[in-house]
Amino acid sequence: MKFGTKAIHAGIYPEQVTGAVMTPIFQTSTYAQESPGKHKGYEYARTQNPTRNVLQDNLAALENGNFGFCFASGLAAIDTVIKLLKPNDEVIAANDLYGGTYRIFTKVFEKFGIKFHFVPMNDPKSIEEKINANTKLIWVETPTNPLLNIIDIEEMGKIAKKHKVLFAVDNTFATPYCHTPLDLGADIVMHSVTKYLAGHSDVIMGALIVNSEELADQIRFLQNACGGVPAPQDCFLVLRGIKTLHLRMKAHNENGIAIANFLVNHPKIARVYHPSLPTHPNHDIAKKQMKIFGGMLSFELKEDSVENAFAMMKRLKLFITAESLGGVESLCGHPATMTHASIPKAEREKNGLRDSLVRLSVGVEDVEDLIEDLAQALA
Ligand SMILES: *Cc1c(COP(=O)(O)O)cnc(C)c1O
Repeated sequence: MKFGTKAIHAGIYPEQVTGAVMTPIFQTSTYAQESPGKHKGYEYARTQNPTRNVLQDNLAALENGNFGFCFASGLAAIDTVIKLLKPNDEVIAANDLYGGTYRIFTKVFEKFGIKFHFVPMNDPKSIEEKINANTKLIWVETPTNPLLNIIDIEEMGKIAKKHKVLFAVDNTFATPYCHTPLDLGADIVMHSVTKYLAGHSDVIMGALIVNSEELADQIRFLQNACGGVPAPQDCFLVLRGIKTLHLRMKAHNENGIAIANFLVNHPKIARVYHPSLPTHPNHDIAKKQMKIFGGMLSFELKEDSVENAFAMMKRLKLFITAESLGGVESLCGHPATMTHASIPKAEREKNGLRDSLVRLSVGVEDVEDLIEDLAQALA
């Protein structure tokens, strides 16, 4: 089955009692048992919920995985992955991660004795010398946030496999429409479902997808034991959003490319980060690995200051200044003071995140209107 067909049909069947074509919202916390312990496979809604089950099956199919698990947020999903580890275990993570991921790693899990190493991952081979007997997990995001670096998943997967280290990919930016990391050697795919999968900026949710039954058993245990599950209404909204994921991603990509080309030639712009551009340092890997380049892009102003970035953002009329990304509407953000404020300034600058960097989540509006808005704000 191809992607668009899977988005609409995989794991989704008319409901058995009524034939409802759309998956109902099973708004219940508990299920009747015929006699103690004799039930229909559903006991308590933290453990199982039919609306959530359908979404989990659909997400697993989209990522070409065997098992899907949904959580109350992307961070609740990340929390679950790190709980697979124990004190003295070490994690090698990319150095330009989503700020919240950096925060949970360093501010929450370091105090439980897990050690995190943040390293550039442009060259997967350089990771090998960082692996030791305690290394249990490699964690990457690609494209990275907000600098849109591309990490070669297949190369990283080979290294992880050779050293028997778990390999997790945060696939939030790319979505399974763009690439399916389990096919490229990842053990765990993580999503902030909040973003492109839900697609309409109205839900907070996370997900994990795996192939291994052993990993699935551990994640299922943690999902129930720690309890960070999403509500059935939210699962319904995500199921509805995913039905147009392929259509939205194509539109985000077309608009993203058009805006990248507009900005790259603009006299007020110092630098544009979009994997479609031949000047992008990882353009070749992007071409090999990604079906499309997506609608996330960042740019720096020639006059590099927070004030200049703020003034430009204030003049934008269609791009709403807001956290988050991946919705049908265009958003803009200022990583240094918004999404990445939890990363210390020195660390930010070391990773190339400048003060005037503005990040766009390009929506699916008519691109002429978006370009006109950017042109007047930059003028
Ligand atoms: C938003 C985001 C997260 C966190 O997800 P939440 O749903 O906000 O908890 C993790 N990784 C990336 C790349 C994100 O964009």
